[in-house]
Amino acid sequence: MAMPRPALAWFRQDLRLADNPALRAAAEGGRPVLPVFVLDDAAAGPWAAGGAARWWLKSSLAALGRDLAARGAPLLLARGRAEIVIPALAEATGAAEVLAGRLYEPWARERDRRVAEALGAAGRDLRLLTSTLLREPETVRSGTGRPYAVYSPFAKSVIGMGEPEAPLPAPDRLRPLATPPPGEALDSLPLYPVPGEPDWARDFGTLWQPGEDGATARLGRFLAGPVTGYANGRNDPGTEGTSGLSPHLRWGEISPRQVWHAVRGALPKDPELAKPFLGEILWREFSYHLLFHRPEMPDRALRDRFAAFPFQPDAALLQAWQRGRTGYPIVDAGMRQLWRFGWMHNRVRMIAASFLVKHLLQPWQAGSAWFWDTLVDADLASNSASWQWIAGSGTDAAPYFRVFNPVLQGEKFDPEGRYVRRFVPELARLPDRWIHRPWEAPAAVLAGAGVALGRGYPRPAIDHAAGRDRALAALRGLPRAA
Ligand code: FAD
Repeated sequence: MAMPRPALAWFRQDLRLADNPALRAAAEGGRPVLPVFVLDDAAAGPWAAGGAARWWLKSSLAALGRDLAARGAPLLLARGRAEIVIPALAEATGAAEVLAGRLYEPWARERDRRVAEALGAAGRDLRLLTSTLLREPETVRSGTGRPYAVYSPFAKSVIGMGEPEAPLPAPDRLRPLATPPPGEALDSLPLYPVPGEPDWARDFGTLWQPGEDGATARLGRFLAGPVTGYANGRNDPGTEGTSGLSPHLRWGEISPRQVWHAVRGALPKDPELAKPFLGEILWREFSYHLLFHRPEMPDRALRDRFAAFPFQPDAALLQAWQRGRTGYPIVDAGMRQLWRFGWMHNRVRMIAASFLVKHLLQPWQAGSAWFWDTLVDADLASNSASWQWIAGSGTDAAPYFRVFNPVLQGEKFDPEGRYVRRFVPELARLPDRWIHRPWEAPAAVLAGAGVALGRGYPRPAIDHAAGRDRALAALRGLPRAA
């Protein structure tokens, strides 16, 4: 019997073997498979993976390479324009078709169009399968047939579509090509570390294990404990109350379907307990829904009236925020957690982002760009949707006039200052009462705690009430909503 023609399994943001419909379809009928990853920074332009994400990607590709090799078909790494690399590999191997998980970033959709065109010219297909979302964005529609702009009806609609399908198992064995073309060595890809730059990610590995095994272990840890207390635990940045799955989901080392069913399965007697967590998975879906239908979201305000917002760009203020030196302990703790581990707790992301945009009047795009470079989970959909939500310019945004008070937020969600003490050690010895407002502490208390305001730890970059009033005045100056 003639050997079936091979297929290319093109890995992009689904760096896993289990529940991977593209890999499964590529290997269908036992045909030979060439697993491929292409680093194509040019296509992504400004949205090429940032520094922290490149650290993650390198380890994740190493793990994927090991897992694929163990199943018999090693991963081929390549670098360059995908519309050239992929058709050339298909040609060289005689592949019948190319299979990949569908992507939703505007640049990636445009690239897939070009790749499909180039493959089509040689009589080959690019087949894109649902892999990184529960539902395709265009299948979730309101009663009037339009896309959703508000989360709650969107979430209701997705839930109304029924339970997501059960995840697919990983293939036991893959049949390799007899003579696969040569690829690049992982170390030759421009990922991490960057030659000549300091090793700022040295602590990442103490918290994270990129790759499918790491994702499974992280999910297991969440199911073994925090999942039952998630409704409250998710708001306490000083404890491990959330799943920590975001970078694994970002790179598709685990699928949202796997997470969904695992959480449901862990709480069989109490489905209500699963709701707050599954609601967050749906926020992720909603962010993609918005990005798909509003591709301008990463760059421009979704609400027109916010396009004219009178931000006051100031490099020194932006830098103070980036370095965790605003003088507001909860903000600074968050920014330092981000720098040290490539991740920040969601509650603190909200406080820190709001502080930058409202108190410091810096453009949300400057904050989102910093997050893009420093988050291991930097995700174009969730990052830009969340920044627009905080800035008030998103379709379903927090009202702009609601300005988070960083002192009260700190006192509410980190009452004993556990989180602040961990990431802002200069304040570690301050009593709880002053931990979120050191500038109000009596001189003797500061001296006793070894805090030298203005020298060691900074004074507040702006007074809360003054910052709030200035933000609201800026809002009042905007044109009225249409
Ligand atoms: P869990 O609480 O365990 O939630 C489970 C999963 O649900 C997460 O892994 C994530 O995939 C998803 N999720 C949770 N909250 C949200 C949300 N608000 N929006 C969309 N998806 C959500 N998340 C990213 O994955 N990438 C980003 O680049 C990103 N940027 C953000 C920027 C700002 C300004 C803010 C306020 C939030 C941002 N988020 C982003 C959302 C959220 O902060 C993270 O997903 C969450 O903190 C990840 O931690 P976790 O995995 O422990 O979350």
